[in-house]
Amino acid sequence: MTIKKNEISLSGMFPEEIQNFCGLKEKFRAEQIFRWIASGVHSFDDMTNLSFDMRSKLKKDFSLFSTKIKETLKDKDGTIKLAVELYDGSVIETVLLTDKAKRKTACVSCQAGCPMKCAFCKTGQIGFLRNLSASEIVEQFLHLEREAGALDNIVFMGMGEPMLNLNEIDKAIKILAHPKGRNLSKRRITISTSGLCEGIYDMADKGPEVRLAVSLTTADEVLRSELMPVNKTNSLDELKQAIKYFNSKSNKRVTLELALMKGLNTDKKAAQQVMEFAKGLECFINLIPWNPVEGLNFKSPSEAEVRNFENYLKKAGLNISTRQKRGQKIGGACGQLGSTASKIKQALIQRENPV
Ligand code: SF4
Repeated sequence: MTIKKNEISLSGMFPEEIQNFCGLKEKFRAEQIFRWIASGVHSFDDMTNLSFDMRSKLKKDFSLFSTKIKETLKDKDGTIKLAVELYDGSVIETVLLTDKAKRKTACVSCQAGCPMKCAFCKTGQIGFLRNLSASEIVEQFLHLEREAGALDNIVFMGMGEPMLNLNEIDKAIKILAHPKGRNLSKRRITISTSGLCEGIYDMADKGPEVRLAVSLTTADEVLRSELMPVNKTNSLDELKQAIKYFNSKSNKRVTLELALMKGLNTDKKAAQQVMEFAKGLECFINLIPWNPVEGLNFKSPSEAEVRNFENYLKKAGLNISTRQKRGQKIGGACGQLGSTASKIKQALIQRENPV
């Protein structure tokens, strides 16, 4: 199979890989290109410290980026959502969130679609097309920086389950954290899983050495299995053991995320189950009032419902924060990614029924 020029982009390579791939004699040339890419340059023409001849040759044979922005949506609250087209025509989404303190966070996707089928998540209803490559992950971050200036944090909470694509995520993180490139601090990077224990152990043993968040949602075993099929093969007990292992191996606190849905996981009993689960863990709890998704039969909790739940947990001495609603109007809030689903579905149908 021939690989087309734009399928492989230099954005997903380390300097030494760029040197080999482009057949460059001098290592420092590859480092210059690496630095330019990290600074957000999209064309060889802008690499002013390379000779005109070299730029022309590189431009003819190689691509810096394999993805392009198909659509940009902006919410008044500062949220930006980009629909990013991949080389094979499928489209994924990436979001920039700005908090009250004006810190900017890139919420990036690691898969086109997602196989985990969480009942409350739009992406989970699409199906799974494929894992993203390191370059496709790096490029989401760089597209957002080009759009909004220097970003502070990156969270793997977009489309997809990170533990199923840990190698490419690891490479993307190493590229973004590379001192000769973007030099992003690993302390500012979080990977969020739906609860795949094997991945948590892997991450604790082999890295990437970044923060971990777990989408707990509820500590009721039966309800969790209904809402998150991952729980059928990764029980709450097993999940707790895996988080404990991560705590001790990494010396890092883990964030437990709870998407709160009206009348479902917000009463006193639900809070007690979460308290029980959190006992003995080094953790921080992030409450996320569920964001409406068309076609899904859940409801957002009222403010009073969220406050009561928060108070139960606070009384037990747990560290809590409640996420502000952001990006809802452009379908960019947590659980809402997938308005580009038709493109992924189309590709899935084509894959299953080749002509
Ligand atoms: S919540 Fe995350 S893991 Fe679950 S279906 Fe959605 S994208 Fe996949």
